[in-house]
Amino acid sequence: MIPFNKPYLTGKEMHYIYQAVYSGKISGNGLFTKKCQRLFEEHYGFKKALLTTSCTDALEMCAILAEIKTGDEVIMPSYTFVSTAIAFVRQGAKIIFADSRNDHPGIDENKIEELISSKTKAIVPVHYAGVACNMDKIMDIASKYNLLVIEDAAQAIDSAYKGKALGSIGHMAAFSFHETKNINAGEGGLLAINDERFIRRSEIIWEKGTNRAEFFRGEVNKYGWVDTGSSFLPSEIIAAYLWAQLENLENIQTKRKKIWEKYYNGLSEWAGKNGVRLPFIPDYATNNGHMFYLVCKTAGQRSDLIKRLKDNDILAVFHYLSLHKSNYYKDIHGDRKLENSDFYTDNLVRLPLYYELEEQDIDNIIKTITLK
Ligand SMILES: *Cc1c(COP(=O)(O)O)cnc(C)c1O
Repeated sequence: MIPFNKPYLTGKEMHYIYQAVYSGKISGNGLFTKKCQRLFEEHYGFKKALLTTSCTDALEMCAILAEIKTGDEVIMPSYTFVSTAIAFVRQGAKIIFADSRNDHPGIDENKIEELISSKTKAIVPVHYAGVACNMDKIMDIASKYNLLVIEDAAQAIDSAYKGKALGSIGHMAAFSFHETKNINAGEGGLLAINDERFIRRSEIIWEKGTNRAEFFRGEVNKYGWVDTGSSFLPSEIIAAYLWAQLENLENIQTKRKKIWEKYYNGLSEWAGKNGVRLPFIPDYATNNGHMFYLVCKTAGQRSDLIKRLKDNDILAVFHYLSLHKSNYYKDIHGDRKLENSDFYTDNLVRLPLYYELEEQDIDNIIKTITLK
């Protein structure tokens, strides 16, 4: 059986976990946490990087930092994971869902402005498949209406928009190290802050509403309760695991992109003949090999394809049921149609993509797909 995903182990994870465990400090914000955070700040230019226990947590921190409150509106694509929305809904926001692009599941930057009202506080672009949204356009709209931009960069590690790292463009950003992502820690995430106004408060919210981080740096002589917050920081055990992955970042990315290219080249001709679309990468974006997907012509074509793969012991999956049609939100959203979002919901399928996927497995998958 070729699974859909298999988390990659670099081989150093247990070594660093052992070090963390026997260092005598296994709670959060220790040596490995600092090493990981420094790497992100230096490598990608984030002004502040804070490890979190998930991307969902990092998004929740963004919603708190953005001071989202009941009645505020937040614009985001409907074709995304629940976490993108739920972080803001918990703060009382109303989500205003925008449609996806015709040529890519990312938010259609030309359909954002018409959704802005006096209640809008933030735009949350999601870099689907690690492929950048049109950030110049989105940042322009945000500055015109004085809105915050929070990048859901869950899938976007090591990817860029016009040469700028994703996650470094908006006021803040959230990354995921869930086991399905390129760099994983089982469960894990990162908050990236690019607007200095939010740095001090981000550390406080991270540390249960206390100024403990300042205390540890010797900036204050005692620490206490100064704000709201939660326990958003992961233990050193998770940071140690993540460090092993980050040391192998380049190798992991190179391998994934190679697999992606092999799929692309092997499926182009078949896709053209069968009206199936391959992933589209705009000129301004890079590919980080996070995901290889196909957009079928019809839902029937997709279910046939998934079945054919399954009959050949290959697991392909689809995902993202448009959030505007979810049981939880459909009544609040109302009838406003989001045709592209629904189209991807019905027609997009993801192929297996993981570090240890062998050349012969990829050949086998391509053959199974193109035989018909
Ligand atoms: C994976 C993912 C998340 C959630 O990440 P967690 O680390 O599991 O909380 C959020 N948004 C998008 C777009 C994702 O792909």
